[in-house]
Amino acid sequence: MKENGHREILATILDTTRECVIVAGADSRISGWNEAARLAFSPNLSPEGRRISEVLRDLDLHEAFRRALEDGVESEIRLETNGGDRKFDVHVSPLDLGGEREAIAFFYETTRLDRLEVVRQEFLSNISHELRTPLTSILAFVETLEDGGIDDEGNSRRFLGVIRRNAERMNSLIADILELSQIEAGRVAVEPKMVDLGSLVNEIFTALGSKADSRDVTLRSAVGEGVRVFADARRLEQMLVNLIDNAIKFNRTGGEVNVSHERQGDIDLISVSDTGEGILPEHLARIFERFYRIDRARSREMGGTGLGLAIVKHLARLHNGDVSVESELGKGSTFRIELPAPAK
Ligand code: ADP
Repeated sequence: MKENGHREILATILDTTRECVIVAGADSRISGWNEAARLAFSPNLSPEGRRISEVLRDLDLHEAFRRALEDGVESEIRLETNGGDRKFDVHVSPLDLGGEREAIAFFYETTRLDRLEVVRQEFLSNISHELRTPLTSILAFVETLEDGGIDDEGNSRRFLGVIRRNAERMNSLIADILELSQIEAGRVAVEPKMVDLGSLVNEIFTALGSKADSRDVTLRSAVGEGVRVFADARRLEQMLVNLIDNAIKFNRTGGEVNVSHERQGDIDLISVSDTGEGILPEHLARIFERFYRIDRARSREMGGTGLGLAIVKHLARLHNGDVSVESELGKGSTFRIELPAPAK
């Protein structure tokens, strides 16, 4: 009776845990489980009395239960289910409940952590690669200068220019990486106030004017006078600079960039349109990812880091807004920032 009482309490407690728990007795037949385990491994059929190997076909798990039941030894194994979709660290140990020996397995799901680890490693390898590219170039040109190139006045100036450009590239890459990591760590707070959108756009046009001129791109603003949006001025400027800079870079010679504003219900929509080559549908969903670029070499050549749109997305979301893109191949693209109006 007492034992049953214990078992009931234990079963109730285990049913509240998110980790899957399975108990098996003689012959590796399942004698206990919690709700999480049933849902994960045997949603349609009661696990009662079935062999572990019938519910989870995994040799290591089977062996771990055998060792716990026969040898009284605990073990730790890795388990993948659903063709690798779910991953677990499993701890199997002998269990003595006063009767014959049983074994208990706790399944700690690591699917999300494993995925984050892959993202982290990809990010690190991207960063290393992106930093190494300009660094290799700097080292090569310094070597050429050291090997006598410095005596050639015309060429050495040119080499210094290349070194400077690559160093600047590394600088902006590091600035973007730091910025992104600050935002992702939740260390960037936005302080929205009413911002005069027309003036802000004009200031950005002035700052980017020579870049637009050099590509023969015309900058136009259709933002009406007196339009004010609720945003952190510095962060809104950062978002718009990124979008307008891209609209210039990925435009055609003689093209246009148009910035406009529209109010839809409680949302302010700020659009940046270009007359560039447009973006294929398969890229559209991915261009807001860190380091995703349609043409890596071209982006690099134009001083891009591949982090600009990721930063814009984060900043828009910090405003409880968002950013989206529409594009038509051969005609151009429109990026739209959505900002919720202040609560009245
Ligand atoms: P980058 O530093 O390369 O500009 P972004 O994160 O700002 O990085 O943009 C990612 C990629 O999205 C760019 O490399 C480019 O391929 C694509 N892209 C961004 N804006 C535009 C645009 N206006 N027209 C076409 N492609 C664009």
